[in-house]
Amino acid sequence: MAASDIDTPSGSNARLRVLVLGGTGEARRLAEALAARPAFEASVSLAGRTRNPLALALPTRTGGFGGVEGLVAYLEAERIDAVIDATHPFAAIMSAHVAEAAQIAGVPLLALARAPWKPQPDDIWREAASLAEALTALGAAPRRVFAALGRNEVQALESAPQHHYLIRSIDPVEPRLALPSAAYIEARGPFAEPDERDLLTGHRIDAVLAKNSGGPETYAKIAAARALGIEVIMLARPARPAVESVATIEDALAWLERRQPRPHASRSHASTARRGV
Ligand code: NAP
Repeated sequence: MAASDIDTPSGSNARLRVLVLGGTGEARRLAEALAARPAFEASVSLAGRTRNPLALALPTRTGGFGGVEGLVAYLEAERIDAVIDATHPFAAIMSAHVAEAAQIAGVPLLALARAPWKPQPDDIWREAASLAEALTALGAAPRRVFAALGRNEVQALESAPQHHYLIRSIDPVEPRLALPSAAYIEARGPFAEPDERDLLTGHRIDAVLAKNSGGPETYAKIAAARALGIEVIMLARPARPAVESVATIEDALAWLERRQPRPHASRSHASTARRGV
């Protein structure tokens, strides 16, 4: 992070120090917008799950903070004035951590959260509250399943080994899963609907296992399944903390523009006092 050691006085010339929690296309686009606005001194944080993440327009730090305590310490050490949680809707742990940490540190927090997909008239969806429930919903009889899951989640497929799986991930799934029948593809979205139709047809897929991520970048597989009359087992989103939230980058920028840099020395003191340390 391009952290300056110089204390910026709170006033019209001070730049707002913004931390964006990333790992999504929205975070990448927000980073581009912030990089072009001199009023902000912003950086992005990534978990470090992807080996070669796409380049970001802002300074980037990588890796966990060390839970809520670590994140509080980071917000204070970097004198962050505002946080945007632009993590993926299924990154529930990070969102819970930042909600708690921002409250402890007294830092304003906004979630940039895309709306979930809604079933359209010709969609054949079955909703599942968990991956275990989704695997049960596939049934006992062998099927050919496109598992649109993250690398961290696919191991659960081993509990339903009767199916053939098509597994797509950005980085290779290594080691390969203990499954009698699986095909692996490495690819990074966004994906186009005609390509998704070809993929589903080419692999003779009869069920799609998907997370309700929302947004346009990974929707093509859902549209393709609809066009081909293929059933989608749709994982519902995990619960996230109730924090102020917007759905667009423009609204996130407008929220940031209303914020003021804060007097950091006193804030650090106050948050230490609040934690009773
Ligand atoms: P998670 O389960 O909510 O978080 C697990 C831990 O990973 C957190 O406690 C935190 O470690 C660390 N972490 C997560 N996001 C981070 C970030 N942006 N910066 C620094 N540390 C972070 O997260 P996840 O579901 O594994 O997602 C990890 C990343 O991949 C996120 O950035 C997310 O936006 C992106 N992503 C996730 C999905 C998905 O389906 N889950 C899909 C696409 C992209 P500490 O407790 O040590 O701070």
